Formats: sequence, structure tokens, C-alpha cells
Amino acid sequence: MQNSATHLDENPTNSRPVVTRIAPSPTGDMHIGTARTALFSWLYARGRGGKFLLRIEDTDRARSSEQATKGILEGMEWLGLDYDGEAVSQFEQAARHVEVAYQLLEAGNAYKCFATQEEIEAFREKARAEKSSTLYHSPWRDASIDEHPDAPFVIRLKAKREGTTIIKDAVQGNVKIRNNQLDDMILLRSDNTPTYMLAVVVDDHDMGVTHVIRGDDHLNNAARQMGIYEAMEWPIPVYAHIPLIFGPDGKKMSKRHGATGVKEYQAMGYNAAGMRNYLARLGWSHGDDEFFTDEQAKEWFDLEGINKAPARFDTKKLDNICGQHFAAADDKELLEELEGYLISIEAAALTSAQKISFLKSMPFLKTSAKKFSQLIEKANFIMASRPIEMDEKAQKQISSVSIGILNELTPELQNVSWDRDSLEACANTVAQRLEIGFGKIAAPLRSALAGRSATPSVLDMMVVLGKDESLARIFEFVELCQEA
Ligand code: GLU
Repeated sequence: MQNSATHLDENPTNSRPVVTRIAPSPTGDMHIGTARTALFSWLYARGRGGKFLLRIEDTDRARSSEQATKGILEGMEWLGLDYDGEAVSQFEQAARHVEVAYQLLEAGNAYKCFATQEEIEAFREKARAEKSSTLYHSPWRDASIDEHPDAPFVIRLKAKREGTTIIKDAVQGNVKIRNNQLDDMILLRSDNTPTYMLAVVVDDHDMGVTHVIRGDDHLNNAARQMGIYEAMEWPIPVYAHIPLIFGPDGKKMSKRHGATGVKEYQAMGYNAAGMRNYLARLGWSHGDDEFFTDEQAKEWFDLEGINKAPARFDTKKLDNICGQHFAAADDKELLEELEGYLISIEAAALTSAQKISFLKSMPFLKTSAKKFSQLIEKANFIMASRPIEMDEKAQKQISSVSIGILNELTPELQNVSWDRDSLEACANTVAQRLEIGFGKIAAPLRSALAGRSATPSVLDMMVVLGKDESLARIFEFVELCQEA
């Protein structure tokens, strides 16, 4: 005998729009794997005009925290994974879960089990000693109501004992699990609280979820959850259990491999579009395409393209993809995201003047940085104010040679029209006059304007800073040289 309930994808009359969800448990930082599952679910729904929902699985009160829920909401927002409606709290649906447990009980698909913890432990010990299955078979499964004592009980699902459950998985193929390997799982605990297994099924059903995309660590749960769908005669969603993310050494990605939290990636300066692109490629492919936009990903994403083998996290590839998205990004959007990045690293907010300078600088900054952290470093000339603080390398330019160069240059600068071409021509004229290369002029200018030796082009910096500020910084630097 095989399971008889309908799978949503098998029913030709099924014209329901796609509904996917991400259902994280708020028990810690939002993991990069959760972000990828959310992304897959989002892409699948958004590419099909469907809905993408967020459910916070906070039934485990001891392990759930407000802080972690906040982290999930912030992570989703940063990644740009917008969900339909409000985030649903699983805990708040508890009364509905209880109601379903009692419906199953009344229909004879569940039963009250009065076995105590000690009895169950004794059963298991005996089974271990006899080397027989430790799967608990409750003696209460077939007891009549007359035999029920007035004592605490749990409600267990009356699971099928014969036949096979086949999980028709869009990624894993048909996964067969013999029903005699599944126990009568608890639906409702003796304190009347629903178990996670019951809550997931009821919520997915009530939220109209058509496609459950999640980590393959939930594959075994699927077989047991299907028992509830069948008993309730609810259509079973399409399952897609995706392999977990591995580290470079082929082991499940963990802190050992580096950052695992979504927030950590934001704080490291990665941009969201690049992150989405990279995470989409992590375990899914569309031909040889490596770099793509959200629109392309939504159009291309399908469950068939998900790899069965676990993907390995590759920071170099992430950097590379993020760099490409940086260069392709809209300047204004990049500035907005930069402000979010500064909040994530608890840095001071940008002033209006700095924002204007950033907007002007974005075209050259974004092509020379792969991450916001690098962008900020390159943008020191914007962030700094007089007196300009110089790093060690920049200080090396404090010399009489610099005085000579800058004293030639500044009178010219005072009379030039302040655009890039004229500034370049002016610097070149001075270089020729002094019989030195352009680089020799640029070096003290970098120190003067930015307090750094690795900066964007001095011409670009001067244009952004404007005539007055540029000259003020140069004069200040010359003074420093004279004092030295
Ligand atoms: N709450 C589960 C988790 O965070 C996900 C359950 C599911 O997707 O069905 O792993």
C-alpha cells in the first residue's frame, strides 16, 4: 500500500497560484543557508506571479528570542527579499494547531496516549537490550475510551504501519520511506502545546503554501508530515529539499569556515544584489550564467536547476560577483545601501555634504571596489575633514620635494577652470616644466587631499572636493611640510 493523498503537482485541476514561504526558527543569527532557502522560495514565487510568505517558527518558547526575530526581519530587508503580507508568528496560531489535533482525534486518526516518560524509557531500554527497534509503539493506540484513565496524556498521530511513503521531491526525486520506520509522533503535548511537526503542517496548509522549499535536513520530517496531510485529507505541497551549503572542505558550513550569519556578510561590506546573485548560483544553475540580474533570476529560476549535490561556499566567487554588481549598480541605490552598511557597522551616519560627494564619486568609486568596506577606504577623501589625518605611507610625502612641487602647482590651480580636463592639463604642464612624471605630482596630492597613498585619481578627488576645499587641503599640507 502506498500513500494515497494527492500531491499538488499531480492534480491537473490544480490551478492555484504558487505560494512559497520561508519558515525560520528565531533561535540565533539568520544563517546564510536560511537566506539561500528564502531566496530560492522568493525567486520561485516572484517568477510565477505567486506569493512569498514569511513565518517565524517561534513555537519553541525556550529557544526563540525577539532579538533573533529582529535579525531575521532585518536580514530579509537587507537582502531585498520582500514578502507578502505580515510575518506570521507560529506561536500565535497555537489555538488552531490544538483544534486540528482534536479534529484528528475525533476522526480516529490520532489517539490519546497516557504512557509516562518512565514507561517509554523502560520500553526503549528493553528494546536496546534485546537489540530490537526502539521505535515506540504505544499500547494506547487501540485502547477504547472506557480504558482511558483520568491522567495527563499526549495526542499522537495514528501513523500507517504498513506500506511505503513516497516523497515526490522536485530535487531529490522519489524518496521512499517504509512506514514501519515511522512512529506515532506526538501532535499535542500533555501541557496542551502543539509540537513543531503539527504546527508546520497546519500553518503551511492554512497559509495556502503550494511549494515547500527547504534544507534537506528536513527530508525525514516530510515523510512524517505527510501523514498529517493524509489524515486531514489536505493536498500535499510540492517538496523541494535542497542540499545544505558546505564549506570549502566539503563539510557542512559552520563558524569554523568563517562567517555564517547574514548580518556578518552585510557588515563585511557585501552588496545585496551581488549576494543574491551569488546565493542563487550556490546550488542552482542556469547554463553557464554566473552574473545575472534579479529579473533574469526570476525568469530563469526553476526547481529542476537545483543541484542534488551540496554546493561549496567560495568567498572568492562571492567577491567577484559582488564586485561586478557594484560596478553595474545605480549610484543612488548604492548610496542608500552604503548608509545601511554604515549602520550595520555602527559607524556615524553621512552628513548631507558627504552624501553629495558620494553621489558625485560613485562612478569611479564603484568600479574600484568590490565591497562597501573597500569603498569607504577609497572614499577617505570624502569622510575626512581638515586637519587631514594621514596614515604612515601618506606621511612619507611630507618633504621639501613636495613643497617644491606643490608651490609650482598651486598658483596654476588657483587660475584654472575647475573641471577634470583643465585640471589634468594644468598638472601636466607643471610636470613638464619640472621635468617629472605625473605620478610625482600625484603622490603629494594624495597625501594632501586624502591622507592616504592609495586613493582614487587625484583629478577625480579634486573635482569632487571643489576648488576651495582642495586648495585648503593642499595649503595645509604644504604648511606641514614646512614645519617638518
Ligand atoms: N523552522 C525550520 C528551520 O528553521 C524550517 C521548517 C520548514 O521549512 O519546514 O529549520
